[in-house]
Amino acid sequence: MLTSSTASLVLGALCCAAIAWMQDPTPSTAPAAEAAKPSTPLRVLVIDGRNNHAWRATTPLLRAILERSGCAVEVATLGEGAEALATFRPEFAKHHVVLSNYNGPTWSAEARRDLENFVGGGGGLVVVHAADNAFPEWKEWNEMIGVGGWGDRSEKSGPYLRLREGRWIADPTPGAGGSHGAQHEFVLTHHASDHPILRGLPKRWKHTQDELYDRLRGPAQNVTVLASAFAPKELGGSGEEEPLLFALTWKKGRVFHTALGHSVIAMQCAGFQETLVRGVEWAATGAVRERATPSDFPTEEKSSPRELEPAKGEGKR
Ligand SMILES: [Zn+2]
Repeated sequence: MLTSSTASLVLGALCCAAIAWMQDPTPSTAPAAEAAKPSTPLRVLVIDGRNNHAWRATTPLLRAILERSGCAVEVATLGEGAEALATFRPEFAKHHVVLSNYNGPTWSAEARRDLENFVGGGGGLVVVHAADNAFPEWKEWNEMIGVGGWGDRSEKSGPYLRLREGRWIADPTPGAGGSHGAQHEFVLTHHASDHPILRGLPKRWKHTQDELYDRLRGPAQNVTVLASAFAPKELGGSGEEEPLLFALTWKKGRVFHTALGHSVIAMQCAGFQETLVRGVEWAATGAVRERATPSDFPTEEKSSPRELEPAKGEGKR
């Protein structure tokens, strides 16, 4: 177990690694996907083991997406049973970024405190799709992710984010938090084109078939809505422009939250993959290395599946 002083030393070392990583020169002539590989890999810890989604299929794909960009990925898998839950205590501080592919029971107070210390001390957090359903009663988690869905979330959880006259406002209207209509392909619209995660990418692009989460709600503090999509009522949606990609700060840490990624098909979208990789880099360092837009990035008219071989290997238990 790390003492708090050891933990801060580890975090300090990680900060140095992150700076070295940012300064790594990128050859301008190499292909975009290859050019991004730094000599000092960002270390990413994926959390899974419980999810009402196919985490056994999606975690290997998330690993493949991140390893292709040069990240060093480990997986912490929560095992079965009450004892596994009680003793689950991933070593967040050994990594630059924690990526949650987890939607399950609340962790021990110690594990929750570890994550709060990690993000609060400057670590990066990335939240994918149903991971924003988890932990409805964990105040700090909900502050980190900004908005979430299900788990009896309601107006007590915080406002909706609504686009009114070109600005995102907090809407306290009573009602449930979290729903979605039928899966379909939909167009993402950027709202912060100068943000490092989006810079240089097309402002509108068609995402592969996915659930379009709507009516998410939460504390919604220190949040930048990066991108949204319209959720049509005729497909069971809210009839609103729904925020789906978010950048947040929490204490000294940064959080990238993508509500996209219901399935392998959704994660094969080249737009999902590019924004995820950029989101991981930004969460780790506050910057995203310059690179060309991938040649297979989707257009407004056409989605772009990018099939990757899933990464092999089991998570630690
Ligand atoms: Zn889903």
